[in-house]
Amino acid sequence: MRAFAYLRADGADPAARDGSVAGTRFLAGGTTMLDLMKCGVERPARMVDIGHLDGLDGIEVDAGTVRIGALARMSRVADHPDIRRAAPALAESLSQAASPQVRNMATVAGNVLQRTRCAYFRDASGNARCNKRLPGSGCAAIDGIHRNHAILGTSDACIATYPGDLAVALVAFDATVRIEGPRARTVRVEDFLRMPGDRPDIEHDLVPGELVTAIEVPVSVPLRRSRYLKVRDRASYEFAAASAAVGVELSPDGGTIWEARVALGGVATRPWRARAVEAALRGQPFDEAVIRRASALAVAGARPLAQNAHKTILAPRVVARALLDMEARP
Ligand SMILES: Cc1cc2nc3c(=O)[nH]c(=O)nc-3n(C[C@H](O)[C@H](O)[C@H](O)COP(=O)(O)OP(=O)(O)OC[C@H]3O[C@@H](n4cnc5c(N)ncnc54)[C@H](O)[C@@H]3O)c2cc1C
Repeated sequence: MRAFAYLRADGADPAARDGSVAGTRFLAGGTTMLDLMKCGVERPARMVDIGHLDGLDGIEVDAGTVRIGALARMSRVADHPDIRRAAPALAESLSQAASPQVRNMATVAGNVLQRTRCAYFRDASGNARCNKRLPGSGCAAIDGIHRNHAILGTSDACIATYPGDLAVALVAFDATVRIEGPRARTVRVEDFLRMPGDRPDIEHDLVPGELVTAIEVPVSVPLRRSRYLKVRDRASYEFAAASAAVGVELSPDGGTIWEARVALGGVATRPWRARAVEAALRGQPFDEAVIRRASALAVAGARPLAQNAHKTILAPRVVARALLDMEARP
């Protein structure tokens, strides 16, 4: 049992101030944080509880923007009628994540900021090399067990898969996060979550004391006509083997793809926008052969290893299946 100081913030500004002290972590729903503390990966000296802060859990949809407060619970967002209507892929990504109990506790910002499930990262016993947990120690997964590891965005230092579902849908539809603190700013989710390079321990754009307060997604036709397909080893309560967030805008007769959005989950070190697939679909007939040919581009540049090469076949199929299903949607 390791002692830590528990602070209950009474506003976003005091939380950011308290959070800037070295060794401090924010606690939202706690479903990742407490888990990582139990396995010894996270060892904060201080925890600032932000889970109850007023005004940071709103859900609003207007003509231009879907706005979700950082502390909105996953289950509430997944079930919200306006989100289901304006942004089905967001609702579906959340409703297929974790379990009902976790979704009732966990927040959307905590979901985006969750850390990898790589078993070597989560093994703090001292027996597993991991550059993400202990920079410079190496990566045991590269020549170890890596069936569920990434094939895209990897480096010689890290092949850990980004585990979340929501961020995949957010990246597909150009979502941003609002950050409060000394450098208040708005950042695209795609830029907010980083690739490992030679510093896999730096996973996102936040510095201590910075708080995510909201997620915003521009309203668009592809967002309204979107879906999230998740394929996994078992039907529920499991992370993605491969997933796809897709959205399309079709011509009025439904025959031509005017606009397409595609992002992949479960196969990359961060949510993976597949722009080559989008470009190959734009202006093309909505046709199975076209869609399958374009979907093959989803894994361009992949670096599979001995046990995860199946993802190079699986991921394009998941993208194609998600897109073909759009035809059945109004
Ligand atoms: C058994 C299990 C299965 C799961 N399966 C899935 C799955 O299939 N798909 C999926 O997507 N997820 C899955 N998850 C992950 C789960 O969704 C996350 O644990 C949860 O979303 C994290 O949210 P939280 O509010 O509990 O975050 P916390 O645990 O409180 O925080 C997570 C991290 O985010 C930071 N943080 C939180 N909020 C903020 C903020 N506003 N600003 C700055 N930093 C912040 C914390 O400091 C911490 O580092 C699973 C979890 C478990 C335990």
